[in-house]
Amino acid sequence: MPELPSWLRKPYAEFAAALEAGRLPGSVIFACPEGLGARDLVAACARLYLCHSPRFPEPCAVCRACELNAAGTHPDFLRVRATASAEGASALTHSPFDADDEELGSGARYVRIDDLRELCHWLSESAALGHGKAAIIENAQLMQQGAANAVLKTFEEPPSGSLIIMWAQSFDTLLPTILSRALKISVAAPSKQEGLQWLSSRDPRLTPQGAELALTLCRGEPLSALAMAHDGNTLAAVGAALGAFAAALSGRGGYDEACEAFAPLPSALTARALSEFVLEVLKYKAGGGQQDLPLLKIIPAKAACALPADHLFKAWRELTAIAAAPPLLPSRAPVALLRAWLYALKGASGTAR
Ligand SMILES: [Zn+2]
Repeated sequence: MPELPSWLRKPYAEFAAALEAGRLPGSVIFACPEGLGARDLVAACARLYLCHSPRFPEPCAVCRACELNAAGTHPDFLRVRATASAEGASALTHSPFDADDEELGSGARYVRIDDLRELCHWLSESAALGHGKAAIIENAQLMQQGAANAVLKTFEEPPSGSLIIMWAQSFDTLLPTILSRALKISVAAPSKQEGLQWLSSRDPRLTPQGAELALTLCRGEPLSALAMAHDGNTLAAVGAALGAFAAALSGRGGYDEACEAFAPLPSALTARALSEFVLEVLKYKAGGGQQDLPLLKIIPAKAACALPADHLFKAWRELTAIAAAPPLLPSRAPVALLRAWLYALKGASGTAR
C-alpha cells in the first residue's frame, strides 16, 4: 500500500490511537471528500483493524490478514461502493481498491439499499479468519433515508468484533441517528503549497501552472487535481475556455466564441471555474495579490474588475449552488449564465454592444 499523503496522517493517527486504546465504537465516520483521498484513508484504517499483530500505528504487513488485504481478497473485508444507478448488479467488493481507476466521483449517485442489507447480513455471520470484520461504506451521504433506516439497527450496534467505516463529503449530509454513536473524524484539505508539493512528487512532469490550475479547479483536493492534470484534454479545454473568456472581457474576442469554448466542458466544471474566477476578482478587488490568484494569471483582472461587487456576489452564490448540485443542472445553464454576465459586464464598463 502506498504511504498516505501528509494531510491524511493525522486523521489516520486519530483512528489508530482509538483502536490501540480499545475505545473504538462500532462505527467510524470520516468527513472527507473523495478528492482528498478518502478511499485510501479508510482502506488503511480497515487494514490496521483487521491486522493480526499491528505495530501501532501501522499494520504488520506480513500476517495472513495483511496479505489477503493487499491482494484484495480478504473475506472479512467488504466495501459498499456508490453506483450510478439504483438498479443493476451488486456494488459490493472484497477489494479495497478500484481496479479500473474510474474518474473520481464520476456518476456516483446511489448507495443501494440491497447492498446495505447484504452488508448487514454479512456482518451477522462469523469472521472467516476469526479476527473481526471491517466494512466500508463509500459516499455515505448518498444513503437515502429509507435505506439508512432499514439498516439503522446494525449501524447503531454492529455485531461485536466488527467495524463499519464510512466516508462522506461532510457530517451534515448524514442522519443524526447514524452520526450519534460513531467516532467522527474530520479531514482538512492541505494548504495550497502542501497540495502542490504532493502533486509534483506524484508527477514531476506537471508544470507549476498546470498543477496550480488543476488544484484550484478541484477545490484544493489533490487527488482530483492529479486526475484532472493527467487528463490533459480537460485542462487544455479549460485553459482555452478561460482564454476565450478573457478575450471577450477585454474586447479582443466575441461573446459567442467565449460561450462556445465552455460548451464542451462538464457543466459542473464550468460552474466551478466561473465561481472561482468570480471569487478571485472579489479577492483582487479587496487588495489580494495577483500571484495567489491563478485564474487571474489567465484572465486580465483589470477587465473583470469593471463588474460591480454586488453582481459578483450574486453570480458567485448562483454558481456555488449550481456546483453543489450538478445532477440537477441543465447542461447549458452555466453557459447561459456566462452569456448574461458578459453582457452585464459590457454594460457596466460602458462599452457599446
Ligand atoms: Zn498484519
